[in-house]
Amino acid sequence: MLIAALLGLAGLLGGSFANVVAHRGPVLWGFANRPERATGRYDLAWPGSHCPSCGHGLGPAELVPVLSYLALRGRCSACGARIAPRYLLLEALGGLAGLSAGLLFPVPFAFFVLALLLLLMTAAAVDSETGYLPDALTGPALWLGLLVSATGVGLDPGAAIFGAALGYVALRGVEEAYRALRGREGLGRGDAKLLAAGGAWLGPGSLPFIVLLAAFSALVVIGAQAARGRSVEGGTEVRFGPYLAGAIAALLLARPLVPPSVAALLGAP
Ligand SMILES: [Zn+2]
Repeated sequence: MLIAALLGLAGLLGGSFANVVAHRGPVLWGFANRPERATGRYDLAWPGSHCPSCGHGLGPAELVPVLSYLALRGRCSACGARIAPRYLLLEALGGLAGLSAGLLFPVPFAFFVLALLLLLMTAAAVDSETGYLPDALTGPALWLGLLVSATGVGLDPGAAIFGAALGYVALRGVEEAYRALRGREGLGRGDAKLLAAGGAWLGPGSLPFIVLLAAFSALVVIGAQAARGRSVEGGTEVRFGPYLAGAIAALLLARPLVPPSVAALLGAP
Protein backbone atom coordinates (compact mmCIF):
# COMPACT_ATOMS: atom_id res chain seq x y z
CA MET A 1 0.00 0.00 0.00
CA LEU A 2 2.88 2.32 0.85
CA ILE A 3 4.52 1.42 -2.45
CA ALA A 4 1.28 2.19 -4.31
CA ALA A 5 1.03 5.61 -2.61
CA LEU A 6 4.66 6.40 -3.43
CA LEU A 7 4.17 5.32 -7.04
CA GLY A 8 1.00 7.43 -7.19
CA LEU A 9 3.04 10.44 -6.06
CA ALA A 10 5.77 9.63 -8.58
CA GLY A 11 3.03 9.35 -11.22
CA LEU A 12 1.68 12.83 -10.37
CA LEU A 13 5.14 14.33 -10.82
CA GLY A 14 5.69 12.22 -13.94
CA GLY A 15 2.38 13.47 -15.34
CA SER A 16 3.48 17.04 -14.67
CA PHE A 17 6.72 16.37 -16.57
CA ALA A 18 4.72 14.67 -19.34
CA ASN A 19 2.98 18.03 -19.84
CA VAL A 20 6.34 19.76 -20.29
CA VAL A 21 7.41 17.12 -22.84
CA ALA A 22 4.06 17.27 -24.68
CA HIS A 23 4.26 21.09 -24.87
CA ARG A 24 7.96 21.54 -25.72
CA GLY A 25 8.87 18.21 -27.34
CA PRO A 26 7.22 18.95 -30.70
CA VAL A 27 9.32 22.14 -30.94
CA LEU A 28 12.54 20.36 -29.93
CA TRP A 29 11.86 17.47 -32.35
CA GLY A 30 11.32 19.95 -35.16
CA PHE A 31 7.66 19.50 -36.11
CA ALA A 32 6.13 22.52 -34.39
CA ASN A 33 7.24 26.07 -33.68
CA ARG A 34 6.63 28.47 -30.82
CA PRO A 35 7.52 32.14 -30.66
CA GLU A 36 9.29 31.86 -27.27
CA ARG A 37 11.88 29.57 -28.86
CA ALA A 38 13.31 32.50 -30.82
CA THR A 39 14.20 34.35 -27.59
CA GLY A 40 17.10 32.08 -26.58
CA ARG A 41 17.73 28.77 -24.86
CA TYR A 42 14.76 26.46 -25.20
CA ASP A 43 14.75 22.88 -23.89
CA LEU A 44 12.87 20.73 -21.40
CA ALA A 45 14.40 22.55 -18.40
CA TRP A 46 14.59 26.14 -19.68
CA PRO A 47 12.85 28.58 -19.61
CA GLY A 48 11.06 27.70 -16.34
CA SER A 49 7.35 26.87 -16.49
CA HIS A 50 5.32 29.94 -17.38
CA CYS A 51 1.92 30.99 -18.70
CA PRO A 52 2.02 30.82 -22.55
CA SER A 53 -0.33 33.86 -22.71
CA CYS A 54 1.38 36.43 -20.47
CA GLY A 55 4.75 34.86 -19.63
CA HIS A 56 4.04 34.87 -15.87
CA GLY A 57 6.58 32.51 -14.24
CA LEU A 58 4.97 29.80 -12.11
CA GLY A 59 5.85 29.83 -8.40
CA PRO A 60 6.33 26.63 -6.35
CA ALA A 61 2.66 26.58 -5.26
CA GLU A 62 1.52 26.79 -8.89
CA LEU A 63 3.64 23.77 -9.80
CA VAL A 64 1.85 21.35 -7.46
CA PRO A 65 0.17 18.79 -9.74
CA VAL A 66 -3.66 18.68 -9.92
CA LEU A 67 -4.23 20.79 -6.75
CA SER A 68 -2.85 24.02 -8.25
CA TYR A 69 -5.00 23.57 -11.38
CA LEU A 70 -8.10 23.07 -9.23
CA ALA A 71 -7.23 25.95 -6.86
CA LEU A 72 -6.77 28.31 -9.82
CA ARG A 73 -9.91 26.88 -11.49
CA GLY A 74 -7.90 26.26 -14.65
CA ARG A 75 -6.84 29.88 -15.14
CA CYS A 76 -3.50 31.74 -15.01
CA SER A 77 -3.18 33.60 -11.68
CA ALA A 78 -1.69 36.66 -13.42
CA CYS A 79 -3.72 37.19 -16.62
CA GLY A 80 -6.70 34.84 -16.18
CA ALA A 81 -6.06 33.01 -19.48
CA ARG A 82 -7.50 29.49 -19.55
CA ILE A 83 -5.00 26.69 -18.92
CA ALA A 84 -5.63 23.78 -21.31
CA PRO A 85 -7.49 20.89 -19.57
CA ARG A 86 -4.72 18.61 -20.89
CA TYR A 87 -2.54 19.79 -17.97
CA LEU A 88 -5.01 18.52 -15.40
CA LEU A 89 -5.72 15.37 -17.43
CA LEU A 90 -2.07 14.22 -17.76
CA GLU A 91 -1.29 14.96 -14.10
CA ALA A 92 -4.35 13.08 -12.87
CA LEU A 93 -3.73 10.19 -15.27
CA GLY A 94 -0.09 10.02 -14.13
CA GLY A 95 -1.17 9.75 -10.49
CA LEU A 96 -3.73 7.09 -11.37
CA ALA A 97 -1.14 5.19 -13.43
CA GLY A 98 1.30 5.10 -10.50
CA LEU A 99 -1.37 4.03 -8.04
CA SER A 100 -2.70 1.23 -10.23
CA ALA A 101 0.81 0.00 -11.16
CA GLY A 102 1.63 -0.18 -7.44
CA LEU A 103 -1.61 -2.00 -6.57
CA LEU A 104 -1.61 -4.46 -9.48
CA PHE A 105 2.04 -5.40 -9.95
CA PRO A 106 4.93 -6.44 -7.71
CA VAL A 107 8.04 -4.28 -7.40
CA PRO A 108 10.22 -3.83 -9.45
CA PHE A 109 7.87 -4.59 -12.41
CA ALA A 110 5.51 -1.85 -11.15
CA PHE A 111 8.21 0.83 -11.65
CA PHE A 112 8.67 -0.20 -15.27
CA VAL A 113 4.91 -0.27 -15.84
CA LEU A 114 4.63 3.30 -14.53
CA ALA A 115 7.44 4.41 -16.87
CA LEU A 116 5.65 2.78 -19.81
CA LEU A 117 2.29 4.35 -18.90
CA LEU A 118 3.89 7.81 -18.69
CA LEU A 119 5.50 7.33 -22.12
CA LEU A 120 2.18 6.15 -23.58
CA MET A 121 0.17 9.10 -22.28
CA THR A 122 2.79 11.61 -23.43
CA ALA A 123 2.80 10.00 -26.90
CA ALA A 124 -1.02 10.11 -26.98
CA ALA A 125 -1.04 13.80 -26.05
CA VAL A 126 1.59 14.69 -28.67
CA ASP A 127 -0.19 12.70 -31.40
CA SER A 128 -3.61 14.15 -30.66
CA GLU A 129 -2.21 17.70 -30.70
CA THR A 130 0.25 17.46 -33.62
CA GLY A 131 -0.53 14.27 -35.58
CA TYR A 132 2.99 12.92 -34.96
CA LEU A 133 4.10 9.99 -32.82
CA PRO A 134 7.77 10.79 -32.17
CA ASP A 135 10.46 8.08 -32.05
CA ALA A 136 11.70 9.81 -28.89
CA LEU A 137 8.64 8.32 -27.11
CA THR A 138 7.81 5.12 -29.04
CA GLY A 139 11.50 4.05 -29.05
CA PRO A 140 11.95 4.04 -25.26
CA ALA A 141 8.57 2.29 -24.82
CA LEU A 142 9.77 -0.50 -27.13
CA TRP A 143 13.28 -0.81 -25.65
CA LEU A 144 11.96 -0.72 -22.11
CA GLY A 145 9.65 -3.66 -22.91
CA LEU A 146 12.53 -5.68 -24.37
CA LEU A 147 14.86 -4.84 -21.48
CA VAL A 148 12.23 -5.68 -18.86
CA SER A 149 11.71 -9.07 -20.48
CA ALA A 150 15.49 -9.64 -20.45
CA THR A 151 15.57 -9.08 -16.66
CA GLY A 152 13.09 -11.92 -16.20
CA VAL A 153 10.32 -9.93 -14.46
CA GLY A 154 8.08 -9.52 -17.51
CA LEU A 155 7.40 -11.61 -20.59
CA ASP A 156 9.66 -14.37 -21.80
CA PRO A 157 12.28 -12.54 -23.97
CA GLY A 158 11.44 -14.64 -27.04
CA ALA A 159 7.78 -13.61 -26.81
CA ALA A 160 8.74 -9.95 -26.33
CA ILE A 161 11.04 -9.90 -29.37
CA PHE A 162 8.57 -11.80 -31.55
CA GLY A 163 5.71 -9.54 -30.39
CA ALA A 164 7.68 -6.38 -31.18
CA ALA A 165 8.68 -7.55 -34.66
CA LEU A 166 5.21 -8.84 -35.54
CA GLY A 167 3.53 -5.66 -34.26
CA TYR A 168 5.77 -3.48 -36.40
CA VAL A 169 5.49 -5.61 -39.54
CA ALA A 170 1.69 -5.95 -39.25
CA LEU A 171 0.97 -2.21 -39.15
CA ARG A 172 3.70 -1.39 -41.69
CA GLY A 173 1.95 -3.88 -44.00
CA VAL A 174 -1.40 -2.15 -43.48
CA GLU A 175 0.25 1.22 -44.05
CA GLU A 176 1.89 0.12 -47.33
CA ALA A 177 -1.28 -1.59 -48.55
CA TYR A 178 -3.34 1.53 -47.85
CA ARG A 179 -0.86 3.72 -49.68
CA ALA A 180 -0.86 1.36 -52.68
CA LEU A 181 -4.67 1.22 -52.80
CA ARG A 182 -5.60 4.82 -52.01
CA GLY A 183 -2.51 6.70 -53.11
CA ARG A 184 -2.13 8.58 -49.82
CA GLU A 185 -1.09 8.09 -46.21
CA GLY A 186 -3.58 6.32 -43.96
CA LEU A 187 -1.55 5.31 -40.93
CA GLY A 188 1.57 7.05 -39.72
CA ARG A 189 4.77 5.06 -39.31
CA GLY A 190 4.72 5.95 -35.63
CA ASP A 191 1.64 3.75 -35.24
CA ALA A 192 3.67 0.69 -36.32
CA LYS A 193 6.42 1.59 -33.84
CA LEU A 194 3.87 2.02 -31.07
CA LEU A 195 2.32 -1.38 -31.81
CA ALA A 196 5.86 -2.85 -31.76
CA ALA A 197 6.18 -1.48 -28.22
CA GLY A 198 2.82 -3.06 -27.36
CA GLY A 199 4.06 -6.41 -28.70
CA ALA A 200 7.25 -6.13 -26.64
CA TRP A 201 5.21 -5.63 -23.46
CA LEU A 202 2.27 -7.95 -24.11
CA GLY A 203 3.53 -10.59 -26.55
CA PRO A 204 2.43 -11.55 -30.08
CA GLY A 205 -0.89 -13.12 -29.00
CA SER A 206 -2.14 -9.79 -27.68
CA LEU A 207 -1.58 -7.86 -30.93
CA PRO A 208 -5.03 -8.54 -32.48
CA PHE A 209 -6.67 -7.51 -29.20
CA ILE A 210 -4.67 -4.27 -29.02
CA VAL A 211 -5.66 -3.35 -32.59
CA LEU A 212 -9.31 -4.38 -32.13
CA LEU A 213 -9.69 -2.47 -28.86
CA ALA A 214 -8.02 0.62 -30.38
CA ALA A 215 -10.18 0.49 -33.52
CA PHE A 216 -13.34 -0.09 -31.50
CA SER A 217 -12.66 2.86 -29.17
CA ALA A 218 -11.79 5.07 -32.16
CA LEU A 219 -15.13 4.14 -33.77
CA VAL A 220 -17.01 4.92 -30.55
CA VAL A 221 -15.35 8.35 -30.28
CA ILE A 222 -15.88 9.18 -33.98
CA GLY A 223 -19.49 7.99 -33.73
CA ALA A 224 -20.04 10.23 -30.72
CA GLN A 225 -18.52 13.19 -32.58
CA ALA A 226 -20.71 12.49 -35.63
CA ALA A 227 -23.77 12.32 -33.36
CA ARG A 228 -22.85 15.79 -32.07
CA GLY A 229 -22.91 17.08 -35.65
CA ARG A 230 -19.23 16.95 -36.67
CA SER A 231 -18.96 15.82 -40.28
CA VAL A 232 -17.06 12.56 -40.77
CA GLU A 233 -16.00 11.42 -44.25
CA GLY A 234 -13.61 8.85 -45.70
CA GLY A 235 -10.88 11.47 -45.86
CA THR A 236 -11.26 12.66 -42.26
CA GLU A 237 -7.92 12.21 -40.53
CA VAL A 238 -8.06 9.96 -37.50
CA ARG A 239 -5.06 10.09 -35.20
CA PHE A 240 -4.79 6.46 -34.21
CA GLY A 241 -1.89 6.81 -31.73
CA PRO A 242 -3.97 7.80 -28.68
CA TYR A 243 -6.28 4.80 -29.19
CA LEU A 244 -3.36 2.39 -29.62
CA ALA A 245 -1.66 3.80 -26.53
CA GLY A 246 -4.88 3.52 -24.53
CA ALA A 247 -5.46 -0.08 -25.69
CA ILE A 248 -1.92 -1.14 -24.72
CA ALA A 249 -2.29 0.46 -21.28
CA ALA A 250 -5.74 -1.06 -20.73
CA LEU A 251 -4.69 -4.60 -21.69
CA LEU A 252 -1.53 -4.42 -19.57
CA LEU A 253 -3.46 -3.22 -16.50
CA ALA A 254 -6.29 -5.74 -17.09
CA ARG A 255 -3.93 -8.71 -17.09
CA PRO A 256 -3.67 -9.21 -13.29
CA LEU A 257 -7.42 -8.62 -12.92
CA VAL A 258 -8.70 -11.36 -15.22
CA PRO A 259 -8.57 -15.16 -14.57
CA PRO A 260 -5.36 -16.84 -15.86
CA SER A 261 -7.30 -18.61 -18.64
CA VAL A 262 -8.49 -15.26 -20.05
CA ALA A 263 -5.00 -13.75 -19.61
CA ALA A 264 -3.59 -16.67 -21.63
CA LEU A 265 -6.13 -15.93 -24.36
CA LEU A 266 -4.89 -12.32 -24.38
CA GLY A 267 -1.40 -13.59 -25.10
CA ALA A 268 0.08 -13.74 -21.59
CA PRO A 269 3.16 -15.97 -21.33
ZN1 LIG B 1 -0.99 34.40 -17.86
